[in-house]
Amino acid sequence: MEANREEKEEVKSLHFIEQIVEEDLRNNKNDGRVHTRFPPEPNGYLHIGHAKSICLNFGLASKYNGKTNLRFDDTNPSKEEQEYVDSIKQDVNWLGFSWDDREYYASDYFATIYDYAVTLIKKGVAYVCELSADEISTGRGTPTVPGQPSPFRNRTIEENLDLFARMKAGEFAEGSKVLRAKIDMSSPNMHMRDPVLYRIMFAHHHRTGDSWCIYPMYDFAHGQCDSLERITHSVCTLEFEVHRPLYDWFIRQLDIFPSRQIEFARLNLTYTVMSKRKLLELVTGNYVNGWDDPRMPTISGLRRRGYTPEAIREFADRVGVAKRDNTIEIVLLEHCLREDLNKRAERRMAVLKPLKVVIVNWPEGEVDELDAINNPENPAAGTRKVPFSGELYIEQDDFMEDPPKKYYRLAPGAEVRLRYGYFIRCVDVIKDERGVITEVHCTYDPETRGGNSPDGRKVQGTIHWVSIKHAVKAEARLYEHLFIKENPDDIAEGEDWKDGMNPDSMKTLECFVEPSLANVESLQKFQFERLGYFSADLDSVSGKPVFNRTVTLKDSWSKMAAK
Ligand code: ATP
Ligand code: MG
Repeated sequence: MEANREEKEEVKSLHFIEQIVEEDLRNNKNDGRVHTRFPPEPNGYLHIGHAKSICLNFGLASKYNGKTNLRFDDTNPSKEEQEYVDSIKQDVNWLGFSWDDREYYASDYFATIYDYAVTLIKKGVAYVCELSADEISTGRGTPTVPGQPSPFRNRTIEENLDLFARMKAGEFAEGSKVLRAKIDMSSPNMHMRDPVLYRIMFAHHHRTGDSWCIYPMYDFAHGQCDSLERITHSVCTLEFEVHRPLYDWFIRQLDIFPSRQIEFARLNLTYTVMSKRKLLELVTGNYVNGWDDPRMPTISGLRRRGYTPEAIREFADRVGVAKRDNTIEIVLLEHCLREDLNKRAERRMAVLKPLKVVIVNWPEGEVDELDAINNPENPAAGTRKVPFSGELYIEQDDFMEDPPKKYYRLAPGAEVRLRYGYFIRCVDVIKDERGVITEVHCTYDPETRGGNSPDGRKVQGTIHWVSIKHAVKAEARLYEHLFIKENPDDIAEGEDWKDGMNPDSMKTLECFVEPSLANVESLQKFQFERLGYFSADLDSVSGKPVFNRTVTLKDSWSKMAAK
């Protein structure tokens, strides 16, 4: 297994960002240092797309003996909260990464960034503009029509310094003035047409409180933070490619550390929305039960659903690093999870939709403690005892009164193997007055204990079961994708993206599980034989466990990949 993995690693070619890093290392750029950062804005919970970015940034640093900073991009006080900061830290840690003591905030640098702005004013390349937001926007022109210079563009340096200081002192109303860079109003790149650097906002900031009433724009903060932290490779998503000339302009004008920005395609998944705005709307509109609802693509949702950090890291690795936007099949994510859980999840028996079976020749009151294998993939997981008695539950689906050909489960006259137990044969079907089957009566063959017949008799089907007297009542929550549409962001005129939601994305069942599951720790994971992987939910209490179905056993990715 291990050797196999190494081989795989060796033949796997470098992705384009690794190639850039290795080229830089060969040239001893940055004295051979590799320093990346993960820069979330604390305005929502992290999702699987962020996980991709986290694995990439921390992965590069660990591969090249470097470091990764965690930096909160908290330049927009109106949308940011401590709750998000805390959840982000928890999620990055849970994924298996550490920033050591390098936890930074863009707001830590507000004073320095302010000084940078003053430097630009003094160089005559920034000015205070009094146009409204709309006027600035129209004045910018279009990609094919050059913009119009602002009437405030040619203020003197002294006047700009004075006005900017007074903006900071809180003398002017919100929206009345901004600081703009003075670059090129006819640049083919709209971002170079005198972008706004600072705006007035009388907003309380989650860290700096009320000390500032002007805040830098993202574009005038992000790159500056990278430089201040001497980030060597600033990895971001493609939409920032067009911003890069602006960031490089700031680096030249301010003569600061030249962090190199490298863009890659953001991760999109089928049947999933990834925009933070939409995820927030799902939470605030109660379309789901919070950020960690097991149907959410958030890291906390995936965790609660039963995903493992290993599965998510493997997924991030397999999707690779693309230069063009694409959408990844969600079945690949599920496949990575199954592979991981198959190795580590212990097997248990549970019955989701019970049908009562009475073993008519079972010795009255007797209980047989059968040996069951915990995990065939891992002999070290050992065995456990499962009680067998004369009354059992099996799945309703595992019995048919009038079965079609090739139905190998239980039917009148037919014989099946009970997992780890005995062969049983159906001898009678009991119905209520409406004709609904209430019980199935069977005989068992005492010679078949453990699942084999000494006379070599074969049975085709093996079904799972629980002993009624010993079973524990539990709740099972079964999930489907939150959206029916493969691409929920693709909506027609007049449609709402939420119209594509799946009304049956969650089903709750009362079910029965074997007694070893009476007390589970939350997030403990199991394979319920033939039913899927299940993870104990936070709502479990002693004696009444709650299980989320993490994923079914059917793997449609393997089938797709085999084609
Ligand atoms: P916003 O629109 O609020 O800025 P965002 O998706 O950019 O949302 P951030 O918190 O700013 O969220 O993102 C932090 C980091 O995660 C950024 O470097 C961003 O590029 C990266 N990231 C965000 N979404 C994805 C995604 N779907 N795939 C890969 N990386 C992503
Ligand atoms: Mg962002």
